[in-house]
This record gives sequence, C-alpha cells and structure tokens, in this order.
Amino acid sequence: MTTECPFESNVIDAVTAGSWTESLRAHVASCADCAAAAEVAPWLTRFAGMDERTHVLPDPAVLWLKAKVLQTSAAVERASLPITRLQIAAYLIIAAGWAAVLTWKSAALQAWINHFSPGHLILGATGAETTSLSLSVLVAIIALASASVGVAMHTILAEE
Ligand SMILES: [Zn+2]
Repeated sequence: MTTECPFESNVIDAVTAGSWTESLRAHVASCADCAAAAEVAPWLTRFAGMDERTHVLPDPAVLWLKAKVLQTSAAVERASLPITRLQIAAYLIIAAGWAAVLTWKSAALQAWINHFSPGHLILGATGAETTSLSLSVLVAIIALASASVGVAMHTILAEE
C-alpha cells in the first residue's frame, strides 16, 4: 500500500473519463499496479454507481402491482377493441342507411311531413292519398330508428 504508484489515480481517471494520453498508456504497459488499476477501474465505477441506483429503484411490490394493473388494462383494451370496431361499423351502416333514405325518399318524406302541417289538417283528406309514404320506406325508417337506438343503448351500456 505504501508503494502506490503516483500515476494510479491518473490511470483510473483516464479509464472512467476515457481521457488517455500517450505517456499514460506507455506507463500502464510498464507498471503492473496501473495495469491492474486500469483493468479494475470500469468494474469499480459500475460498482460505485450500483448503490446509487438501488435507492432510485422503486419498491418491487409497487413495480409488480403496476405491471399487474397495466396487464389487466391492456387485456381489457384488447377485449373491448373488437366491440368498438363493431360499434363503429354499426354506426357507419346506420348513418349510410339514414343518408340513403333521406336522399332517395326526400321528396316523399317532405310530402309526408307536410301532411301533418296545420294547413293540410285543415284541408282534410284532399290529396292525402298521393302524399302517403310507401310502406317499404316507412319500414326502413322504423328499422333504422330502432337500430340507431339499439347501437346507442349498447354503447351506453358498454361504457358502464
Ligand atoms: Zn503506475
């Protein structure tokens, strides 16, 4: 211990900081003490940092619990994904159905709505036959309305 090489601390600094000089390299090649120090220094610095890290690391129980919670929420997300996609598909189909009915039968619907206007009610049955909505359109509207309510209810229930 008393015969410690004066360059040893320089060698350790060079290893940890990577700041080697030509003279230091030449010295390590000829000095057994510094060669050993250079070999051990990286491991020593890693070992010195280890204690610091154990204090930073959270409690294993907390880590395990966090992993479990994340696993569960991921599983729930994965399980609910097909339902969400199905719901989106259902909404698109219903929206397309409404759009189709409203564009193709807009004239008939307009006449049908006008049928309930006060003017028509006063006029009575005059021309009522020509403005009556066809049964197929009425059925389509009822089916779309019930499908809309069904999907909406499913969404509300699924969110709970
Ligand atoms: Zn030395």
